[in-house]
Amino acid sequence: MTAAGPRVEKVSTTLVDLPLHRPHQFRDSTMDAQGVLLVRVGTGDGVVGVGEGVVPGGPWWGGESVETMQVVVDRYLAPLAVGADLGRLPELRGRMDRLVAANPFAKCALETAMWDAWARTLGLPLHALLGGRCRDSLPVTWAIGVADPDAVVDEALARIESGGHTSIKLKMGALEPTADTVRVEKIAASLAQVTSVRVDLNGAWDELTATRLLPRLEEAGIDLVEQPTPAWDVEAMARLCGLLRVPVMADESLRSDHDALTLAARRAADVFSLKIGKSGGYLATQRIAAVAQAAGIPCHGGTGIESSLGTLAGAHLLATLPAVTWGSELFGPLLMTDGLLAEPLDYRDGAVHLPDGPGLGIELDEDRVARYARR
Ligand code: MG
Repeated sequence: MTAAGPRVEKVSTTLVDLPLHRPHQFRDSTMDAQGVLLVRVGTGDGVVGVGEGVVPGGPWWGGESVETMQVVVDRYLAPLAVGADLGRLPELRGRMDRLVAANPFAKCALETAMWDAWARTLGLPLHALLGGRCRDSLPVTWAIGVADPDAVVDEALARIESGGHTSIKLKMGALEPTADTVRVEKIAASLAQVTSVRVDLNGAWDELTATRLLPRLEEAGIDLVEQPTPAWDVEAMARLCGLLRVPVMADESLRSDHDALTLAARRAADVFSLKIGKSGGYLATQRIAAVAQAAGIPCHGGTGIESSLGTLAGAHLLATLPAVTWGSELFGPLLMTDGLLAEPLDYRDGAVHLPDGPGLGIELDEDRVARYARR
């Protein structure tokens, strides 16, 4: 006889928009509010698990948006999940991949809600169900969108002072490359002695530009360069890893476990940026972290600018992965004026600390969900 786990009885989705303290500017778009797809999974025992789907401000990053996620979950994934045994989640997750190609962000939103429902049913914190933790908190880098040097320096110093952050990440790629480099050199002249300054190019430069300009950023005291060249150009990433002393981190180049294997084999990344959203949930991200650990590549907890709900979903897994030795950038909730949870997350001393209750360890606030729900 096989023991059955809780059954999924209902899946529902809600789109919400959470306002930000300040606009966050990417290369080609600016977000004033963050759209969030809230996914709820109800079991036959009356337990409700919650998950979140977000992308950084729109479909530019990976092709999905919160609107596409809602259609994919409601129309295709939810009918598959209803009736499924949560005790057989890896099997269901495989069926999700066979029914729907790609769409990792939508799959992550549903998968994490199912994990939460399962953990709540068992009365375990998610990190315990995911294998047990190797840390209680994660350092959080403060990230700043494209802005003038003075504004960036002011915001960085204020955040270091008030939040205890020990690193700052700057978005690059919106300006002409040389002008952008001069901008970051100015910022680094003020900040590199004070804190660790990192840059994220989101694949904006070709290899020639990166080869010409990244040594200048290294000279200016930048500590880490994220995804300088396009996602597909693994060979350029490998050559840049060889050229630079400063570590090169893969983000857009690293989505699947297969990507992880390729990057590790080619030594095309010094650090991996893990995000449960881009990789389609916990199971795939665990496999990526295992490849990283086997290859001796440290990992960093990246963000798609999740709300407090999605941030916790990511943090629970990151806390269980020994390879995550490069901290995180789970700063999304700090950029938002409010969240969907009854209690704010525990941010202290430049780190986010994990709660210990069952599942995510925190409850949704239905009044807040209603207030920010899209009409
Ligand atoms: Mg990135």
